[in-house]
Amino acid sequence: MKDQNCLFCKIIEGDIPSSKVYEDEYVYAFRDINPQAPVHVLVVPKEHIASVDAVDPGNSAYVAKCFEAIAKIAKAEGLVSGYRVISNCGEDGGQTVMHLHFHIIGGVKLSEKIV
Ligand code: 5GP
Ligand code: ZN
Repeated sequence: MKDQNCLFCKIIEGDIPSSKVYEDEYVYAFRDINPQAPVHVLVVPKEHIASVDAVDPGNSAYVAKCFEAIAKIAKAEGLVSGYRVISNCGEDGGQTVMHLHFHIIGGVKLSEKIV
């Protein structure tokens, strides 16, 4: 189900253009408009899920599909030495778009380490 006021739902629908890197029945992935590394891809479920905090037994299959896609995209992008997957959640987590997304960041040795 899509949310008509949601930026990423509009990107999934093609109403807002994006640089697509992967798509299947459950997942859409595209390049971040403001990349923080040579590879910066956003992986989003095609179901509108607001954030990690809204994951439940009824929608968690979309999360699994996102991670299957992440592994495929990382290989396709040549991230053989590793990468980071980040999901900011809520205000304190720094989330700015309220549609669940996973940042794939890589293509360079990442130095900042929070955890
Ligand atoms: P958050 O801060 O919610 O974790 O991540 C949102 C991400 O979406 C940011 O990295 C931001 O650059 C990206 N973003 C925001 N608007 C657009 C857009 O219209 N197109 C694309 N490709 N990325 C966007
Ligand atoms: Zn949405």
